[in-house]
Amino acid sequence: MPAGLNRRMFLTNSALALTAGAAALRERSLAQGAESDARVVTVTGEISATEMGRTLSHEHVTTDFLGAEKLPAPRYDRDAAFLAIRPHFERLAKQSVRTLVECTPAHIGRDVRLLKRLSEATGIRILTNTGYYGAVDNKFLPRHAHTESVDQLAARWLAEWRDGIDGTGIRPGFIKLGTGGGPLPDLHVKLLRAACRVHRETGMSIAMHTGDGAAARHEVAVLREEGVAPSALIWVHAQNDPGPIQLELARAGVWVSLDGYSTATRNPERYRNFLMEHQKAGTLGRVLISHDDGWAVDGEAPTGSTLTLFGNGNQEPYRSIFERLVPDLRRVEMGDAEIRMLLETNPREAFAIRRRLL
Ligand SMILES: [Zn+2]
Repeated sequence: MPAGLNRRMFLTNSALALTAGAAALRERSLAQGAESDARVVTVTGEISATEMGRTLSHEHVTTDFLGAEKLPAPRYDRDAAFLAIRPHFERLAKQSVRTLVECTPAHIGRDVRLLKRLSEATGIRILTNTGYYGAVDNKFLPRHAHTESVDQLAARWLAEWRDGIDGTGIRPGFIKLGTGGGPLPDLHVKLLRAACRVHRETGMSIAMHTGDGAAARHEVAVLREEGVAPSALIWVHAQNDPGPIQLELARAGVWVSLDGYSTATRNPERYRNFLMEHQKAGTLGRVLISHDDGWAVDGEAPTGSTLTLFGNGNQEPYRSIFERLVPDLRRVEMGDAEIRMLLETNPREAFAIRRRLL
Protein backbone atom coordinates (compact mmCIF):
# COMPACT_ATOMS: atom_id res chain seq x y z
CA MET A 1 0.00 0.00 0.00
CA PRO A 2 1.54 3.42 -0.88
CA ALA A 3 2.72 5.46 2.08
CA GLY A 4 0.30 8.03 3.39
CA LEU A 5 -2.81 6.27 2.22
CA ASN A 6 -5.05 4.29 4.51
CA ARG A 7 -6.45 1.03 3.25
CA ARG A 8 -9.88 2.41 2.51
CA MET A 9 -8.51 5.27 0.41
CA PHE A 10 -6.21 2.86 -1.44
CA LEU A 11 -9.07 0.56 -2.29
CA THR A 12 -11.21 3.44 -3.41
CA ASN A 13 -8.45 4.82 -5.62
CA SER A 14 -7.71 1.39 -7.10
CA ALA A 15 -11.37 0.89 -7.84
CA LEU A 16 -11.47 4.28 -9.56
CA ALA A 17 -8.36 3.44 -11.58
CA LEU A 18 -9.91 0.14 -12.66
CA THR A 19 -13.15 1.85 -13.56
CA ALA A 20 -11.28 4.48 -15.57
CA GLY A 21 -9.28 1.76 -17.35
CA ALA A 22 -12.42 -0.19 -18.18
CA ALA A 23 -14.07 2.98 -19.42
CA ALA A 24 -11.06 3.76 -21.64
CA LEU A 25 -11.15 0.24 -23.06
CA ARG A 26 -14.84 0.52 -23.71
CA GLU A 27 -14.34 3.93 -25.40
CA ARG A 28 -11.67 2.40 -27.63
CA SER A 29 -13.79 -0.54 -28.62
CA LEU A 30 -16.73 1.80 -29.24
CA ALA A 31 -14.53 3.93 -31.49
CA GLN A 32 -13.25 0.87 -33.36
CA GLY A 33 -16.72 -0.51 -33.76
CA ALA A 34 -18.33 2.86 -34.39
CA GLU A 35 -18.26 2.60 -38.16
CA SER A 36 -20.13 -0.67 -38.25
CA ASP A 37 -22.31 -0.14 -35.16
CA ALA A 38 -23.63 3.33 -35.99
CA ARG A 39 -27.24 3.18 -37.14
CA VAL A 40 -29.55 5.51 -38.99
CA VAL A 41 -33.33 5.38 -38.70
CA THR A 42 -35.15 5.95 -42.00
CA VAL A 43 -38.87 6.00 -42.81
CA THR A 44 -38.54 2.44 -44.11
CA GLY A 45 -36.58 1.17 -41.12
CA GLU A 46 -33.20 1.13 -39.43
CA ILE A 47 -30.02 0.73 -41.50
CA SER A 48 -26.30 0.79 -40.89
CA ALA A 49 -24.94 4.34 -41.19
CA THR A 50 -22.51 3.04 -43.81
CA GLU A 51 -25.48 2.44 -46.13
CA MET A 52 -26.44 6.13 -46.24
CA GLY A 53 -24.17 6.93 -49.19
CA ARG A 54 -24.38 10.35 -50.82
CA THR A 55 -26.82 12.39 -48.74
CA LEU A 56 -28.67 15.70 -48.96
CA SER A 57 -28.75 16.69 -45.30
CA HIS A 58 -31.44 19.39 -45.26
CA GLU A 59 -34.36 19.28 -47.69
CA HIS A 60 -38.15 19.26 -47.56
CA VAL A 61 -40.89 17.41 -49.36
CA THR A 62 -44.14 19.13 -48.32
CA THR A 63 -44.41 22.04 -45.93
CA ASP A 64 -47.58 23.87 -44.87
CA PHE A 65 -47.23 27.28 -43.28
CA LEU A 66 -50.86 27.57 -42.14
CA GLY A 67 -50.02 27.29 -38.42
CA ALA A 68 -50.04 24.52 -35.84
CA GLU A 69 -53.52 24.88 -34.43
CA LYS A 70 -55.14 25.42 -37.85
CA LEU A 71 -53.61 22.46 -39.68
CA PRO A 72 -55.66 19.30 -39.14
CA ALA A 73 -54.20 17.09 -41.90
CA PRO A 74 -52.43 17.47 -45.26
CA ARG A 75 -54.43 19.90 -47.42
CA TYR A 76 -53.28 18.41 -50.73
CA ASP A 77 -54.28 15.26 -52.54
CA ARG A 78 -51.68 12.67 -51.53
CA ASP A 79 -51.83 10.77 -54.82
CA ALA A 80 -51.34 13.96 -56.85
CA ALA A 81 -48.46 15.04 -54.59
CA PHE A 82 -46.82 11.63 -54.91
CA LEU A 83 -47.05 11.69 -58.71
CA ALA A 84 -45.71 15.25 -58.93
CA ILE A 85 -42.77 14.67 -56.58
CA ARG A 86 -41.72 11.15 -57.58
CA PRO A 87 -39.80 12.18 -60.75
CA HIS A 88 -37.60 14.50 -58.68
CA PHE A 89 -36.72 11.61 -56.37
CA GLU A 90 -36.01 9.38 -59.35
CA ARG A 91 -33.66 12.01 -60.64
CA LEU A 92 -31.79 12.01 -57.30
CA ALA A 93 -30.67 8.46 -57.98
CA LYS A 94 -29.08 9.71 -61.23
CA GLN A 95 -27.02 12.16 -59.13
CA SER A 96 -25.90 9.17 -57.03
CA VAL A 97 -27.87 10.46 -54.05
CA ARG A 98 -29.04 7.60 -51.85
CA THR A 99 -30.43 9.43 -48.81
CA LEU A 100 -32.40 12.63 -48.21
CA VAL A 101 -32.96 14.14 -44.76
CA GLU A 102 -36.48 15.61 -44.65
CA CYS A 103 -36.51 18.45 -42.14
CA THR A 104 -40.20 19.41 -41.97
CA PRO A 105 -41.31 19.13 -38.35
CA ALA A 106 -44.70 18.15 -36.94
CA HIS A 107 -47.38 20.87 -37.20
CA ILE A 108 -45.75 22.45 -40.26
CA GLY A 109 -46.56 19.78 -42.80
CA ARG A 110 -44.58 16.66 -41.82
CA ASP A 111 -46.22 13.87 -43.83
CA VAL A 112 -44.50 10.59 -43.07
CA ARG A 113 -46.94 8.49 -45.10
CA LEU A 114 -46.02 10.40 -48.26
CA LEU A 115 -42.31 10.14 -47.39
CA LYS A 116 -42.53 6.38 -46.98
CA ARG A 117 -44.39 5.98 -50.27
CA LEU A 118 -41.79 8.07 -52.12
CA SER A 119 -38.97 6.12 -50.53
CA GLU A 120 -40.47 2.73 -51.40
CA ALA A 121 -41.20 3.80 -54.98
CA THR A 122 -37.76 5.26 -55.73
CA GLY A 123 -35.30 3.54 -53.38
CA ILE A 124 -34.12 6.89 -51.97
CA ARG A 125 -33.82 6.58 -48.21
CA ILE A 126 -35.51 9.35 -46.22
CA LEU A 127 -35.05 10.43 -42.60
CA THR A 128 -37.90 12.18 -40.78
CA ASN A 129 -37.90 13.84 -37.37
CA THR A 130 -39.55 14.43 -34.03
CA GLY A 131 -39.59 17.71 -32.08
CA TYR A 132 -41.25 21.13 -32.36
CA TYR A 133 -40.38 24.21 -34.39
CA GLY A 134 -40.48 27.41 -32.30
CA ALA A 135 -39.25 29.93 -34.90
CA VAL A 136 -41.63 32.52 -36.43
CA ASP A 137 -43.14 33.65 -33.11
CA ASN A 138 -44.20 30.14 -32.11
CA LYS A 139 -46.81 29.98 -34.88
CA PHE A 140 -46.01 26.31 -35.45
CA LEU A 141 -46.06 25.20 -31.82
CA PRO A 142 -49.08 23.29 -30.53
CA ARG A 143 -50.68 24.79 -27.40
CA HIS A 144 -49.33 22.10 -25.10
CA ALA A 145 -45.74 23.13 -25.95
CA HIS A 146 -46.34 26.30 -23.92
CA THR A 147 -47.62 24.57 -20.79
CA GLU A 148 -45.94 21.17 -20.57
CA SER A 149 -42.72 20.47 -18.69
CA VAL A 150 -39.41 19.38 -20.18
CA ASP A 151 -40.14 15.79 -19.14
CA GLN A 152 -43.66 15.79 -20.61
CA LEU A 153 -42.41 17.10 -23.96
CA ALA A 154 -39.54 14.64 -23.99
CA ALA A 155 -42.02 11.83 -23.28
CA ARG A 156 -44.07 12.77 -26.37
CA TRP A 157 -41.00 12.70 -28.62
CA LEU A 158 -39.71 9.49 -27.04
CA ALA A 159 -43.09 7.88 -27.75
CA GLU A 160 -42.62 8.71 -31.46
CA TRP A 161 -39.11 7.20 -31.31
CA ARG A 162 -40.39 4.04 -29.62
CA ASP A 163 -43.79 3.49 -31.26
CA GLY A 164 -43.64 5.52 -34.47
CA ILE A 165 -45.41 8.66 -35.65
CA ASP A 166 -49.22 8.99 -35.70
CA GLY A 167 -49.87 5.25 -35.61
CA THR A 168 -47.79 4.55 -38.73
CA GLY A 169 -44.88 2.77 -37.04
CA ILE A 170 -42.58 5.16 -38.95
CA ARG A 171 -39.86 6.32 -36.56
CA PRO A 172 -37.91 9.58 -36.51
CA GLY A 173 -34.18 9.60 -37.30
CA PHE A 174 -33.37 12.94 -35.63
CA ILE A 175 -34.85 15.76 -33.55
CA LYS A 176 -35.84 19.02 -35.25
CA LEU A 177 -36.34 22.30 -33.40
CA GLY A 178 -36.48 25.95 -34.46
CA THR A 179 -35.67 29.33 -32.95
CA GLY A 180 -34.93 32.89 -34.08
CA GLY A 181 -32.00 35.13 -33.11
CA GLY A 182 -30.20 34.79 -29.79
CA PRO A 183 -30.48 34.68 -26.89
CA LEU A 184 -33.11 31.96 -26.86
CA PRO A 185 -36.40 32.73 -25.11
CA ASP A 186 -37.18 30.52 -22.11
CA LEU A 187 -39.76 28.55 -24.10
CA HIS A 188 -37.16 27.53 -26.68
CA VAL A 189 -34.62 26.68 -23.97
CA LYS A 190 -37.28 24.36 -22.52
CA LEU A 191 -37.77 22.68 -25.90
CA LEU A 192 -34.00 22.30 -26.30
CA ARG A 193 -33.68 20.73 -22.84
CA ALA A 194 -36.41 18.26 -23.79
CA ALA A 195 -34.46 17.49 -26.99
CA CYS A 196 -31.29 16.91 -24.93
CA ARG A 197 -33.17 14.37 -22.80
CA VAL A 198 -34.38 12.59 -25.90
CA HIS A 199 -30.85 12.65 -27.28
CA ARG A 200 -29.50 11.13 -24.07
CA GLU A 201 -32.04 8.32 -24.29
CA THR A 202 -31.83 7.62 -28.02
CA GLY A 203 -28.65 9.12 -29.50
CA MET A 204 -30.67 11.09 -32.09
CA SER A 205 -28.98 14.32 -33.20
CA ILE A 206 -30.63 17.70 -32.62
CA ALA A 207 -31.04 19.80 -35.78
CA MET A 208 -32.09 23.31 -34.79
CA HIS A 209 -33.25 25.98 -37.22
CA THR A 210 -31.36 28.97 -35.81
CA GLY A 211 -31.66 32.69 -36.56
CA ASP A 212 -28.07 33.75 -35.89
CA GLY A 213 -24.71 32.83 -34.35
CA ALA A 214 -25.61 34.23 -30.93
CA ALA A 215 -28.54 31.80 -30.74
CA ALA A 216 -26.27 28.93 -31.84
CA ARG A 217 -23.81 29.79 -29.07
CA HIS A 218 -26.65 29.81 -26.54
CA GLU A 219 -27.77 26.39 -27.80
CA VAL A 220 -24.28 24.97 -27.18
CA ALA A 221 -24.33 26.41 -23.63
CA VAL A 222 -27.67 24.66 -22.95
CA LEU A 223 -26.30 21.38 -24.34
CA ARG A 224 -23.30 21.61 -22.03
CA GLU A 225 -25.58 22.22 -19.02
CA GLU A 226 -27.49 19.10 -20.03
CA GLY A 227 -24.30 17.03 -20.36
CA VAL A 228 -24.64 16.68 -24.13
CA ALA A 229 -21.65 17.15 -26.45
CA PRO A 230 -21.73 19.95 -29.07
CA SER A 231 -21.39 17.26 -31.77
CA ALA A 232 -25.02 16.30 -31.09
CA LEU A 233 -26.10 19.70 -32.47
CA ILE A 234 -26.67 20.52 -36.14
CA TRP A 235 -26.73 24.32 -36.49
CA VAL A 236 -29.37 24.62 -39.23
CA HIS A 237 -29.07 27.72 -41.46
CA ALA A 238 -25.57 28.60 -40.28
CA GLN A 239 -25.35 30.70 -43.45
CA ASN A 240 -27.51 33.26 -41.59
CA ASP A 241 -24.34 34.18 -39.69
CA PRO A 242 -21.45 34.70 -42.11
CA GLY A 243 -19.06 35.73 -39.31
CA PRO A 244 -16.39 33.89 -37.33
CA ILE A 245 -18.91 32.05 -35.12
CA GLN A 246 -19.22 29.41 -37.86
CA LEU A 247 -15.55 28.51 -37.43
CA GLU A 248 -15.67 28.84 -33.64
CA LEU A 249 -18.58 26.43 -33.27
CA ALA A 250 -17.24 24.03 -35.90
CA ARG A 251 -14.02 23.84 -33.86
CA ALA A 252 -16.14 23.10 -30.77
CA GLY A 253 -17.62 20.11 -32.64
CA VAL A 254 -20.98 21.54 -33.77
CA TRP A 255 -22.24 20.55 -37.25
CA VAL A 256 -22.40 23.73 -39.32
CA SER A 257 -25.24 23.28 -41.81
CA LEU A 258 -24.96 25.52 -44.89
CA ASP A 259 -28.30 24.53 -46.29
CA GLY A 260 -29.67 27.20 -48.61
CA TYR A 261 -27.60 26.54 -51.72
CA SER A 262 -29.21 27.83 -54.90
CA THR A 263 -28.42 29.28 -58.27
CA ALA A 264 -29.82 32.68 -57.23
CA THR A 265 -27.60 35.73 -57.75
CA ARG A 266 -24.47 35.70 -55.61
CA ASN A 267 -25.53 32.59 -53.67
CA PRO A 268 -23.09 30.16 -55.39
CA GLU A 269 -20.11 32.46 -54.76
CA ARG A 270 -21.18 32.98 -51.14
CA TYR A 271 -21.38 29.25 -50.46
CA ARG A 272 -18.15 28.47 -52.30
CA ASN A 273 -16.42 31.13 -50.16
CA PHE A 274 -17.85 29.67 -46.94
CA LEU A 275 -16.48 26.28 -47.92
CA MET A 276 -13.07 27.69 -48.81
CA GLU A 277 -12.92 29.42 -45.40
CA HIS A 278 -13.71 26.16 -43.64
CA GLN A 279 -11.14 24.36 -45.78
CA LYS A 280 -8.50 26.93 -44.78
CA ALA A 281 -9.47 26.71 -41.10
CA GLY A 282 -9.41 22.91 -41.15
CA THR A 283 -13.10 22.68 -40.20
CA LEU A 284 -14.54 21.26 -43.43
CA GLY A 285 -15.05 18.01 -41.51
CA ARG A 286 -17.87 19.68 -39.52
CA VAL A 287 -19.75 21.21 -42.47
CA LEU A 288 -22.98 20.02 -44.08
CA ILE A 289 -24.31 21.32 -47.38
CA SER A 290 -27.84 21.18 -48.81
CA HIS A 291 -30.51 23.17 -50.72
CA ASP A 292 -33.50 23.51 -48.36
CA ASP A 293 -35.70 22.82 -51.40
CA GLY A 294 -39.23 21.44 -51.28
CA TRP A 295 -42.88 22.17 -51.94
CA ALA A 296 -45.19 24.41 -49.93
CA VAL A 297 -48.96 24.38 -49.70
CA ASP A 298 -50.44 27.63 -50.95
CA GLY A 299 -53.32 29.63 -49.62
CA GLU A 300 -55.56 29.63 -46.57
CA ALA A 301 -58.31 27.33 -47.85
CA PRO A 302 -58.85 24.28 -45.62
CA THR A 303 -58.59 21.71 -48.43
CA GLY A 304 -57.78 21.37 -52.10
CA SER A 305 -54.76 23.65 -52.03
CA THR A 306 -51.95 23.23 -54.52
CA LEU A 307 -48.28 22.58 -53.93
CA THR A 308 -45.71 25.07 -55.18
CA LEU A 309 -42.00 24.67 -55.38
CA PHE A 310 -39.83 26.68 -53.04
CA GLY A 311 -36.10 26.71 -52.52
CA ASN A 312 -34.25 29.97 -52.34
CA GLY A 313 -34.34 30.52 -56.08
CA ASN A 314 -33.73 27.02 -57.43
CA GLN A 315 -35.79 26.33 -60.55
CA GLU A 316 -35.60 22.56 -60.01
CA PRO A 317 -35.45 20.94 -56.57
CA TYR A 318 -32.45 19.06 -55.17
CA ARG A 319 -30.15 19.62 -58.16
CA SER A 320 -28.06 22.81 -57.97
CA ILE A 321 -25.35 21.35 -55.72
CA PHE A 322 -24.54 18.72 -58.33
CA GLU A 323 -24.96 20.90 -61.39
CA ARG A 324 -23.23 24.04 -60.09
CA LEU A 325 -21.48 23.70 -56.72
CA VAL A 326 -19.54 20.49 -57.31
CA PRO A 327 -18.05 21.74 -60.63
CA ASP A 328 -17.27 25.10 -58.95
CA LEU A 329 -15.47 23.35 -56.08
CA ARG A 330 -13.38 21.34 -58.52
CA ARG A 331 -12.32 24.61 -60.14
CA VAL A 332 -11.02 25.93 -56.78
CA GLU A 333 -9.14 22.67 -56.35
CA MET A 334 -11.27 20.86 -53.86
CA GLY A 335 -10.71 17.22 -54.55
CA ASP A 336 -12.97 14.18 -54.60
CA ALA A 337 -12.11 13.42 -50.98
CA GLU A 338 -13.39 16.81 -49.79
CA ILE A 339 -16.54 16.60 -51.89
CA ARG A 340 -17.16 13.11 -50.53
CA MET A 341 -16.66 14.48 -47.02
CA LEU A 342 -19.35 17.15 -47.54
CA LEU A 343 -21.91 14.89 -49.19
CA GLU A 344 -21.22 11.53 -47.65
CA THR A 345 -18.94 11.28 -44.61
CA ASN A 346 -20.20 14.35 -42.73
CA PRO A 347 -23.93 13.61 -43.10
CA ARG A 348 -23.29 10.03 -42.02
CA GLU A 349 -21.45 11.19 -38.91
CA ALA A 350 -23.98 13.93 -38.16
CA PHE A 351 -27.04 11.65 -38.27
CA ALA A 352 -25.56 8.39 -36.99
CA ILE A 353 -27.27 7.20 -33.86
CA ARG A 354 -24.72 6.93 -31.10
CA ARG A 355 -24.79 8.63 -27.79
CA ARG A 356 -22.56 11.68 -27.50
CA LEU A 357 -22.24 12.64 -23.87
CA LEU A 358 -19.70 15.04 -22.42
ZN1 LIG B 1 -35.55 23.83 -44.04
